[in-house]
Amino acid sequence: MSGSPQASHITFGHLRRVPRRFTHVGERLWLDFVNTDETRRGDRVDLLRDFDLLVEFLEEVGSLDAERAAGMHRRAQQQPAGAAAALVDARRVRAALRVLAERGALSEKARWDALTEINRVLGRSAGTRRVEPRADGSFARSFVPVGDAFAGLIIPIVESAADSLISGELGRIRRCGDSRCTRVFLDSTRNGRRRWCEMATCGNRAKAARFRARERAPDHRVASA
Ligand SMILES: [Zn+2]
Repeated sequence: MSGSPQASHITFGHLRRVPRRFTHVGERLWLDFVNTDETRRGDRVDLLRDFDLLVEFLEEVGSLDAERAAGMHRRAQQQPAGAAAALVDARRVRAALRVLAERGALSEKARWDALTEINRVLGRSAGTRRVEPRADGSFARSFVPVGDAFAGLIIPIVESAADSLISGELGRIRRCGDSRCTRVFLDSTRNGRRRWCEMATCGNRAKAARFRARERAPDHRVASA
């Protein structure tokens, strides 16, 4: 039965399906990461308010399994300064990736700046790259660092951005058609006409606005009289 409490905690091997807290409309890991910095009714809302939420995000996207995520939460309690620094660094990378998402297709400077950030993260941590099965049957990159555990956390995210650069898909990344919404996504529709981050929110708002505009239009009142 879908929607039952059990359905949101299906186990898959060692993975626990965690209830979703973040939106996953970007179609790429790095775009979902960029979308953790949201705008709601004109106000900026940072969904990564603390280090634990960063770990929750990484667990939700499959970059950390439940066991390693629990280890990260424990380690953050033991080393709060290190965890805080890792969060600051993750936000800095996120800001560079937002510029890449919004302007990367048109601006060489945006691409170069993002590349500098990507290579800074990739260059500083030794460890093992892995591909992990996710609870929904898809797969995710993960990275098991050697040494400083915090430094490697966002490696799967920057690798995802690197993949988009390498495959030349920046031209299909769009910002939501609602000017008040800052979410970005990869338009993977065949006709390249995806406009909204989600139909359930921005798409429906636009549809309702069009309906209200029609209701107000004078020729509509004549037609329905
Ligand atoms: Zn939107």
